[in-house]
Amino acid sequence: MSWESNIRRVIPYTPGEQPKISDVIKLNTNENPYPPTPRVMEILNSYECGRMRLYPDTNSEVLVNALADFYKVKSSQVFVGVGSDDVISMAFLTFFNSDKPILFPDITYSFYDVWADVYRIPYKTIPLTEDFRIDPADYTIPNGGIIFPNPNAPTGVLESLDTIEEILKANPDSVVMVDEAYIDFGGKSVLPLLDKYENLLVIQTFSKSRSMAGMRIGFAIGSEKMIKYLNDVKFSINSYTMNPLTQLSGAEAVKDAEYFYETTKKIMETREDAKKRLTALGFTFPDAMSNFIFATHPDYDAAEIFTALKERKIFVRHWNKPRISQYLRITIGTPEEMDSFFAALEEILGTLTKRGNA
Ligand SMILES: *Cc1c(COP(=O)(O)O)cnc(C)c1O
Repeated sequence: MSWESNIRRVIPYTPGEQPKISDVIKLNTNENPYPPTPRVMEILNSYECGRMRLYPDTNSEVLVNALADFYKVKSSQVFVGVGSDDVISMAFLTFFNSDKPILFPDITYSFYDVWADVYRIPYKTIPLTEDFRIDPADYTIPNGGIIFPNPNAPTGVLESLDTIEEILKANPDSVVMVDEAYIDFGGKSVLPLLDKYENLLVIQTFSKSRSMAGMRIGFAIGSEKMIKYLNDVKFSINSYTMNPLTQLSGAEAVKDAEYFYETTKKIMETREDAKKRLTALGFTFPDAMSNFIFATHPDYDAAEIFTALKERKIFVRHWNKPRISQYLRITIGTPEEMDSFFAALEEILGTLTKRGNA
């Protein structure tokens, strides 16, 4: 026995690299290449710093109300947290409390198994089909809850509302969470299904489509009952998680719908262009409805491309994991960044040895 025998041990999540060197092209963590709306800057400039001696509003009302207005739901249906990582973590703690395993895809956001481990929640991963799709028939086994992103990460594959509704229909006794971190890049949100399913929780973030990864804002929308349960757990851990500057600037960002639609549209256009250029270079990828593309090349090794890009200070994401080790996840940057990326990529493919010819 030692003081170390009763530790809550866990292998932590590994976030994508945030390089410390300058002039890199950063296409590795799905950040938005555009700054947040200028209205956020105005809020920051006009903030009266004397107010910082006070505790913030525990309910983050300005932000919750702005979100409720935008998504046409009641304020009592909105829960906000410090990034959707915070929201999902709270949701795991609140809703996944069964002896039966929770279910999520084998290829998905690599934080889910970490939260399950740290909270000692049993889980079972469900293999995606060969073409990286979710088969709702796989989600009919006894379970303690379900979570998946839509579009999925890191594949970028979008599932239809019909597919998701099939999962909901088969699971009236489980909480079903849909992580919509990338829904604003052309997908259809599952939010309209909230009227029919009290056990559905929809989670979104300001980190991608609203250009505010550094501010740490995430939110969940669900039935009033679910949000109440979530708040009960949150207020049993830490009431004052979101600082007032974040609350105010988040609310401003939501109110500037025009800027939001304009920047997400630009990213979608750049993405469609990137699809054509990747295809021209011989890459294949599942059709991406996110701000990233998950691409593989039949002739060249993904890890070698990854390393060669990194030597040119271009960062993409690569995982040494079963089924996806030959894929690169490329975040959509500005058109200029994508030009540099493709110029480098073309050059690299000309120098690498083809797979199987080594
Ligand atoms: C980025 C991401 C999140 C977390 O984002 P936050 O920055 O914590 O809001 C959650 N789920 C998926 C699938 C993501 O890609």
